Amino acid sequence: MADFDEKLEFKRRNSWQYMDESVKAEVTALCEDYKKFLDESKTEREAVDSAIKLLRASGFLSIEEVRDLKLPKEKLPGTKLYYVHRNRCIFIAVLGKENPEVGFNMVGAHVDCPRLDLKPNPLSEKNNVLYFRTHYYGGIKMYQWPTIPLSLHGVIVKKNGEKITVKIGENDDEPKFMISDLLPHMGGGQMSKPAGSFIDPENLNVIIGSIPGKIDEEDKDSKTLTVKQQILAYFNEKYGVDEKDFQRAELVITPAAKATDIGFDRGMIAAYGHDDRVCAYTELRALLDMKNVPTRTAVAYFADKEEIGSVGNTGARSNSLELFAIEIAALYGPGEVMLTANRCLAASKMLSADVTAAFDPSYADVYDESNAAFMGGGIAIEKYTGHGGKSGTSDCPAEFVREVTDIFDENGVAWQINEMGKIHSGGGGTIAQFMADKGVEVLDCGVPLWSMHAPLELASKSDIYWAYKGYLAFIDR
Ligand code: MN
Ligand code: MN
Repeated sequence: MADFDEKLEFKRRNSWQYMDESVKAEVTALCEDYKKFLDESKTEREAVDSAIKLLRASGFLSIEEVRDLKLPKEKLPGTKLYYVHRNRCIFIAVLGKENPEVGFNMVGAHVDCPRLDLKPNPLSEKNNVLYFRTHYYGGIKMYQWPTIPLSLHGVIVKKNGEKITVKIGENDDEPKFMISDLLPHMGGGQMSKPAGSFIDPENLNVIIGSIPGKIDEEDKDSKTLTVKQQILAYFNEKYGVDEKDFQRAELVITPAAKATDIGFDRGMIAAYGHDDRVCAYTELRALLDMKNVPTRTAVAYFADKEEIGSVGNTGARSNSLELFAIEIAALYGPGEVMLTANRCLAASKMLSADVTAAFDPSYADVYDESNAAFMGGGIAIEKYTGHGGKSGTSDCPAEFVREVTDIFDENGVAWQINEMGKIHSGGGGTIAQFMADKGVEVLDCGVPLWSMHAPLELASKSDIYWAYKGYLAFIDR
């Protein structure tokens, strides 16, 4: 047999096996910071607020503040700014040495996650137990939500316009909430139904109270407060709101669990909302940790509403990117602002930073193993997402796949390339196609997960680190 050059053959690597102790220490440090971010950021509003806190601490200014500085063009390179769009999405930039006409180098993730939203009239009392009625948001398996501790997040906007921020159930000394399930002894009928239908979404009712007022036994006509009245009185005392104010609220139920290490070796993190705050945090950190004034303006983008189709005026289909490009173009002085913004979009390059499914040996039959991403294999690149026949995807051209993978290779970033599941079992969109619609060159790449969209999702710390290193390499040049 002829000699064979082993380099001709592609071999998968587990990135942990090529990592020395100093890099492992960096992985641990990054992931500790990430866990803190996750625990503080359970909704898109909270994620945007957490980002602003980190940005302000690093000297970033709002675009309005930068505008007021009226900096001459030559002073703009290196300027660090952010642009918040309707409290739920944000663009963050380090202005480059070149005019925005040459395009941005962007990394874009989404910060909304599957959860249970409260219905507009959420309070419902049955047999002296008070519930929040919910309407689920995004793709969830209903059966995963009963019998776990839950927390309440969001805002209530009172009639007078005052906005109240609500966050209950995250601290150890705060109450939590829960959805009940049927005991197995009496669950025969339930257990014989398919998993997709044995929990009716109308039954995802969250227990929020159970103590009615005391009855005066001496007084035959004694009236007492219902549980609902008691809890309404609590809400009024704590927040100054009444039942009608729930109709002007945006309140959501999320798992109350904190991000936690998994395994004796602490190699993985279990957390609510890795999808897609793992990419949002790593791209944010990349921007914060840049060493250079980049040639092209570096941008990190947090989008909202990805989980329900990137819709609405804060989703990736909205004109928020165009508005941001116009605002940046306007900083460079009057003149052809619209032309500059349009040229900017057409010349922009973007990593669509979103999670994918890692090959799970317990469910091997839905994956094409040779085209799957693996836990610990590094940042996972998807040339296309979509579903059977590539419908609903932005198929990235080979030229840009080469450009990105070259940047990763030059910077020692561990990466793998995959499809999410078998042709007819996989699928799922990202913001990539909507960015591509605007003329941006875009490639999907992010962290592979297990248990995606479950109340707790799993990610490998090494892949989180390589996503960070990949995004940093892409923008810091
Ligand atoms: Mn996602
Ligand atoms: Mn998702």
